Amino acid sequence: METIVRGLYSRVTRKTVDEVELHDPDLPRNVQPEKLVKELEGKRVTDVRRRGKYVLLEVAGNKLVTIHLRMTGKLLVCSRDEDTDYQRITFSFKEDGKLVMDDLRRLGTLDLLESEDEEPLSSLGIEPFTDSYEWEEFRELFETTQPLKLTLLDQNKITGLGNIYASEVLFRAKLSPLASGNEISETGKKRLFEVIPEVLSEAIEKNGTTFSNFRDSSGESGNFQDFLRIYQKEGKPCPDCGTEIVRTDQSGRGTYYCPSCQDKGKN
Ligand SMILES: [Zn+2]
Repeated sequence: METIVRGLYSRVTRKTVDEVELHDPDLPRNVQPEKLVKELEGKRVTDVRRRGKYVLLEVAGNKLVTIHLRMTGKLLVCSRDEDTDYQRITFSFKEDGKLVMDDLRRLGTLDLLESEDEEPLSSLGIEPFTDSYEWEEFRELFETTQPLKLTLLDQNKITGLGNIYASEVLFRAKLSPLASGNEISETGKKRLFEVIPEVLSEAIEKNGTTFSNFRDSSGESGNFQDFLRIYQKEGKPCPDCGTEIVRTDQSGRGTYYCPSCQDKGKN
């Protein structure tokens, strides 16, 4: 996500939106299609940033186009005469090029906001790399009987950790994804607090997530696979102790862990 946003920032910021084509009128959730187009055409993009899993395009007049890509959404920068297969909205720029939201399964969302104090951004949880990421607040999130993995995925508690990162973070912190916050020690929570930004920084360095339909803004794959130690490695030996890595399901999503290093009894 951070990779996508950095790529977009350098390619899109300071350009002026010449034309907005809404290929999918059902895309905007909180604004009429005509109003969306009218609000954005002729406006300069002043910033591109991230809040949790949302990409924010700020345009002159402090309007925020807030996009969530979900499963198959992509934001692609291409030349003006290029079309992509599953376009939902296109922002063509006066200077050159255009920004396309392409989305095979059409699960991505778009909202037009006046500020970050509005939904869906206002209810987002604490966020690594910002002032909101603070130990006292963090530990309170884990005063719960909810399994650790699910707390990590809850965007109202901590933003920016997807399914892949949650498994990797717990492996590096040597905590069982099945243990609840209440079952882990203070030092375990502290390890988790420290490991999260480390894992995210490493992931950014490795250029984001490369899984089949998740690309950076130029459509390039990164080398993120090298970074994964546990995710989708079931049956393979744990890189730390050699025990066979196990896969289980939590809320319908795959969790990968080493039953020895991440033994619930050792938390
Ligand atoms: Zn192990």
